[in-house]
Amino acid sequence: MSLSTYAHMLVAVDFSPEAETLVARAAQLREQCGARLSLLHVVEYLPMAYSGDLVLPEGFDLEQELLEVASRQMAALGDRLGVASADRRVEIGNTGHTILRVADELGVDLILVGSHGRHGLAVLLGSTARSVLNGARCDVLAVRVAEE
Ligand code: AMP
Repeated sequence: MSLSTYAHMLVAVDFSPEAETLVARAAQLREQCGARLSLLHVVEYLPMAYSGDLVLPEGFDLEQELLEVASRQMAALGDRLGVASADRRVEIGNTGHTILRVADELGVDLILVGSHGRHGLAVLLGSTARSVLNGARCDVLAVRVAEE
């Protein structure tokens, strides 16, 4: 049986230090498969979660600020990995749903996520990895990220 390699991979990055393991794995797979690589970061903007004790200056647009910070981080990562600007996405929404939506839009054949975020437990899959695995219509690679 011969299996073709992946042609287009989507990497969901949260910009945590732990994400470096994921990024390194993605770079290695891209090399091996000669695949196109797209990067996605989701700004999960929950106005209710922020509004409580935060006193924001008048006219301050928190959503815009979060998007700008994320875009700068995305630019730095994209430059470092040599990913074309058109293949870098920063979106607002629910993280799991947005990863699945963008994966469908781009028609990728592999999604890479970290097994869990900063506060995950070694034996459990984080919530994002779980919802992506449950909903994806293509292969998913949950890269085991190191514990602290
Ligand atoms: P978590 O849901 O925190 O356990 O995160 C597990 C993995 O989901 C991370 O390693 C990333 O691959 C992905 N992920 C989490 N949050 C985001 C985000 N805001 N944007 C893109 N990917 C994310």
